[in-house]
Amino acid sequence: MTTVDAINFEGKKALIRVDFNVPLDQEGNVTDITRIEAAKPTILKVLEDGGAAILMSHLGRPKSQEAQFSLQQICKKVSEVIGVEVNFLPNCIGPETQEAANNLEMGKILLLENLRYHEEEKAGDPAFAKALSELGDVYVNDAFGTAHRAHASTTIIAQYFPNNKCFGYLLAKEIESLDRVLNQSEKPVLAILGGAKVSSKITVIENILDKVDEMIIGGGMAYTFIKAQGGNVGSSICEDDKQELALEILEAAKAKGVLIHLPVDVLAANDFSETAQTQTVDIKSIPDGWQGLDAGPQSIQKFDAVVNNAKTILWNGPLGVFEMTPFATATIALGNSIANATKNGAFSLVGGGDSVAAVKQFGFDDKVSYVSTGGGAMLEMLEGKTLPGIAAIKE
Ligand code: AMP
Repeated sequence: MTTVDAINFEGKKALIRVDFNVPLDQEGNVTDITRIEAAKPTILKVLEDGGAAILMSHLGRPKSQEAQFSLQQICKKVSEVIGVEVNFLPNCIGPETQEAANNLEMGKILLLENLRYHEEEKAGDPAFAKALSELGDVYVNDAFGTAHRAHASTTIIAQYFPNNKCFGYLLAKEIESLDRVLNQSEKPVLAILGGAKVSSKITVIENILDKVDEMIIGGGMAYTFIKAQGGNVGSSICEDDKQELALEILEAAKAKGVLIHLPVDVLAANDFSETAQTQTVDIKSIPDGWQGLDAGPQSIQKFDAVVNNAKTILWNGPLGVFEMTPFATATIALGNSIANATKNGAFSLVGGGDSVAAVKQFGFDDKVSYVSTGGGAMLEMLEGKTLPGIAAIKE
């Protein structure tokens, strides 16, 4: 894998695709700098070599050039985090941008305006990609969050740098971590899949059945499996049209020798609300009118043992509605179990939007081996797909 380490950037302008799609408050202040910090090592490597950096990113989903999606809002924060003054350019292409790039001195950083102000970005337009490519000497992709998109700045652009393209540290680390879980893993390998729906993770489940020894299926997904096996799930979230598929997965797992663990008890509520009445019940006999919103104490104990037995752990998706305090218990307990297993030598990777939010909220982010920055991109890698942004650098 060619990373920035393979290149000496002295006297060169690195055009770096970063993922600065950061959350902003009403006033346009950055509320979470994780993604900016994640890009810092790559940017510093370029500068320390004696090169210059031109940063390009998207922010949100602008329909036209709405000010609320302008990257100008984050420029000061980027300067602060990187520790070098960053100059903003109000357009990502065009004569003025080209001139600023031509005149860029080594050691300096430019930040381009939102790539998605041009519809050509998402369309993967070659002319737009070429215009971007003319700004720099080397193309660096460090944006895992968009690596599953064949957009102009993430994929198409790479063809204009046949011998001058590489991965940034962040993207390389993401690829290595997932590879360590899927292909270079120490056994037993455990995948924990939670979240709302079976339908959104079905391809992941099918693909990783070939890679893992055990799988915990929790969260809202579990009820489809329980109902398919003849259980009464009350009014828990359930996809009736996926019941047959759930049984097929259980069969396939059995045939492949993969142990599947489902919750055995749940914390059921009489309403989808923080103030609902609750009771702990067997997952196969949830009373009508009640819905399972978290895994129960016996399940927590069972999962703890499974997690602590594993040497490689992948976690995607919460075990309950962790956004509501009364239903966060099992997700927090799982985080603790994974932290403990990691301390004892297991390799643990957490990824997917909601599990990342959960590990951060409950302070587990530095107690696991790796927290992935890309939700959709990670799921697609788990589905076994080749991501266009990654393939474009390797080609
Ligand atoms: P996903 O994006 O598929 O990972 O789903 C994450 C969402 O699943 C979170 O917002 C959780 O609140 C939700 N979730 C987890 N467990 C349940 C459950 N038992 N019932 C309803 N929603 C759930």
